[in-house]
Amino acid sequence: MRVAVLSDIHANVTALDAVLADIGSVDAIWHLGDVVGYGPEPDAVVARLSNVGATGVAGNHDRAAVGGPEIEWFNPDARAAMEWTRTHIDPTTAAWLRDQPERRTQGDALLVHGSPRDPVWEYITSASVVRANIPEMPTTIGLYGHTHVPMAWAERDGQIEGAEPRPGATVSLDGASHLLVNPGSVGQPRDGDPRASWMELDLAAATATWHRVPYDIPAVQRAMRDAGLPARLAERLRHGL
Ligand code: ZN
Repeated sequence: MRVAVLSDIHANVTALDAVLADIGSVDAIWHLGDVVGYGPEPDAVVARLSNVGATGVAGNHDRAAVGGPEIEWFNPDARAAMEWTRTHIDPTTAAWLRDQPERRTQGDALLVHGSPRDPVWEYITSASVVRANIPEMPTTIGLYGHTHVPMAWAERDGQIEGAEPRPGATVSLDGASHLLVNPGSVGQPRDGDPRASWMELDLAAATATWHRVPYDIPAVQRAMRDAGLPARLAERLRHGL
């Protein structure tokens, strides 16, 4: 079974369309939340995911978009974008966002936005956070987003090792007792590479492969400015930070 794993699309439908074209044919598309927030086209992103039958989980931005208290912890730019999102999404988008659970198990994979123990908010940024989360995993594989940085953590013989996979890198999932892997962000990468990021999971071969896809960043920046979204959020897309 081949699965495309997408995270942190953030209402960037131009990036999502480039990724969907790159994915081609797979058995399933899974998403790890933060479908909306920051970007200018939340309705179009949700419509695409709905059309391709993507299954996934809610992120902090998705919860905030449908009235959740998460907005109180946002920085001023994120909050301004979220207030814009709240007033611009249509009822179909809001209903779809409300339907996303905090955790979802698909075979031997657990899907969360943040972390297994704190699925909406916690950032997985160190081996000690990975170690603390392993007891909360009912599966071997954990898929997470939220940091917007591609990453592969593996527990082998009690040791935890993390690697930031390069574009095109394939990591073997064999022999690990637990794995926590992050596909990177489709719509707002923060690892210094502005291209959209996604990950291909081949469950039969037990491999994960990271992909980067260029898209029309100036077009998205124009749409953000036209919508009145914070200029800094548009600017950062160019740097991938
Ligand atoms: Zn995010």
